[in-house]
Amino acid sequence: MKKNLLRVIALALICALLSGCGGDLSRYTDALYNAWGSEGSDIVAYEDMVYTRPDMAELENVLVNAKEAAAGEDFDRIIHRIWELYDAYDLFYTNYALADIRYSGDLTDSYWEAEYNFCAENSPRVDAILEELYYALAASPCLEELESDEYFGAGYFDSYQGENSWDAEFTALLEEENALIGRYYELSGEAGEYEMGSEAYYAACYEEMAQVLVELIRLRHQIAAYWGYEDYAQFATDYYHYRDYTMEESKAYLDAIQAELVELFRQVNLSGIWETGFGYSSEEDTYAYVQTAARNMGGMVEEAFNVMDQAGLYDISYGENKYPTSFEIYLDSYYVPFIFTCPDLTAYDQLVFAHEFGHFCNDYASYYSYAGVDVLEFFSQGMEYLSLCYVEGTEHLTKMKMADSLCLYVEQSAFASFEMGMYEIPEAELSHEALENLYDQVAQAYGFESIGYDPREFVTIGHYYTNPMYILSYVVSNDAAMQLYQLEISEPGAGLKILEENLATEEYYFLSFLDAAGLESPFAEGRIQKVRKTFEDILG
Ligand SMILES: [Zn+2]
Repeated sequence: MKKNLLRVIALALICALLSGCGGDLSRYTDALYNAWGSEGSDIVAYEDMVYTRPDMAELENVLVNAKEAAAGEDFDRIIHRIWELYDAYDLFYTNYALADIRYSGDLTDSYWEAEYNFCAENSPRVDAILEELYYALAASPCLEELESDEYFGAGYFDSYQGENSWDAEFTALLEEENALIGRYYELSGEAGEYEMGSEAYYAACYEEMAQVLVELIRLRHQIAAYWGYEDYAQFATDYYHYRDYTMEESKAYLDAIQAELVELFRQVNLSGIWETGFGYSSEEDTYAYVQTAARNMGGMVEEAFNVMDQAGLYDISYGENKYPTSFEIYLDSYYVPFIFTCPDLTAYDQLVFAHEFGHFCNDYASYYSYAGVDVLEFFSQGMEYLSLCYVEGTEHLTKMKMADSLCLYVEQSAFASFEMGMYEIPEAELSHEALENLYDQVAQAYGFESIGYDPREFVTIGHYYTNPMYILSYVVSNDAAMQLYQLEISEPGAGLKILEENLATEEYYFLSFLDAAGLESPFAEGRIQKVRKTFEDILG
């Protein structure tokens, strides 16, 4: 029971974090956006938004026109065509998002399933269209004007010069990787009828899932080698996450967490705190919780809430057929975000709604944030922590949140540590057994016996398959968000002030962002000790 609840919490968090913050191609520079993008538009109510199946032939046409313009010397025409393509791109993703929201609201609805699948299947082509545009612009006789400060800025098209680096060999490796990931999804679906982590579950899927991971690791070594890397972990970090901290810093950080938090993690898990649960919360209670927090915070946060409220930009209703996840998604063509949650009618829903509302505020204030994932998660997790300070009677919820946060630090650090380790296993020794042994070692080092664990459970952590080297982001962004809470309790208003001041940030990199916001680096000397102190104060 204890373990299951904990797992549910950890998984819910992962889902909340993941889907809220998918990467996107950064298609507007600020200057370009200011020049054309932000002409005032009235907010459209969600119920008045109309889904139309994207017209792929029309999109291809827009690309042909844009490429033709790019090859010519009529600068205004080029800009006009770029803008036309951006609008078409946004419209595609807006429709995709609308289909996603509807399908997620009822997984048994075959109409929305078909529309969602149509958009999902076509989205790689839509992204490729944008890439093709950029290659055409890089070769344009008007390149110099395009790279002026008023438009894209100097050097914007440097990486689009010459051959597309996504050559056939690399594309083939990625396709192979996608096929393995697809196999993992299939196996997860098949195993879905058994309770996750039960013997029946492992009997149904363990062997094959572990084998898929072994093959993925082998393949990823090849991918890294293709780009001249010796180490896939480093490659994936550079290629997917653009972090401004090094692998060495990350490793030292995980060691510090292990040294400072694992003992407390053990004690808290054995204290019986998970048996008390979060308590019941109706949809109305959950809504009122975030509403009260937003009203008490005021300013931009309250404004964002009012827009969400009046335009109905949320679905937090209970539903048997809903997709069990939560996300916030930006509706580009309408310049507003939307929140989806799948409540379980406990007070945990309040934190989930607050989390997604934090993303909502950030996207609303910045007309869609292009910041890196660690920065994005600062706002959502920060809103969770701050909400506890802006609603009365949250003592129990605060305790639960802190226990949850402590688990996040320790468990996600263990998962991150396992992930780094699995790419270090020599290829000749790579096998299920080697992965199990590694997991067992890591689990023991991080005190997992206090929650119960199975050395085979690494196959249940989808991130290893789908989002390489992502997990560490949960830990570092949680640390930054927790600083808001720590500031707020030592001086009311201090945490909120930092959140508000930075809602429209354009800083992509995490440590630069923290520095500019006046916050500490998670890697700073003594930082983890301060975190432990807060946990000890609240969890006793
Ligand atoms: Zn999130």
